[in-house]
Amino acid sequence: MKTFAERIKDLRKEITASIVRILANNNLQELEIPEEIEEPTYVVYFGDHGEGYDCPVKKVCIEDGALSLLVEFDEDGEGVIYASDLGCRNLDWLNGIRENILSTLELTYKRICYECGKPMDEGYCIDSGREYFCSDECLHKRYTPEEWAEMCGQGKTESYWTKWEDSNRWQDEP
Ligand SMILES: [Zn+2]
Repeated sequence: MKTFAERIKDLRKEITASIVRILANNNLQELEIPEEIEEPTYVVYFGDHGEGYDCPVKKVCIEDGALSLLVEFDEDGEGVIYASDLGCRNLDWLNGIRENILSTLELTYKRICYECGKPMDEGYCIDSGREYFCSDECLHKRYTPEEWAEMCGQGKTESYWTKWEDSNRWQDEP
């Protein structure tokens, strides 16, 4: 059995890898988190003299597979948080950042996979669109085959696999 320290490290790696993968699946090296995102993730940025600022993540960047964050720590001060900094290591913050990325992508796309972030024209719809998953692999990371069978079986029709005919974008590209 792994120690808590090892398990925390594993989870941190897993969430970070998920963020990297979601951006890669959308051909993005960076993503700006716009102001209209309802629950932005606040992280602590340490200034030049070690003073801490509680500030929202403005942009998520991936360089050579490593995560970094751009934050705005006062009216005209921007700072970068690197993978080894606390801001990129705290599990709750990482999870919040991942959620913010999905919400940001949902401003462009009607349906993205909640596991891997791929925009979807076909796949699994959960509870009339509460969640989407692009493949069996992604679905079963969240729900076991037994749980899925129970969710979509016995005439319960809000969870199903389908192909959508409409454009996946809220606004068609010009
Ligand atoms: Zn997926």
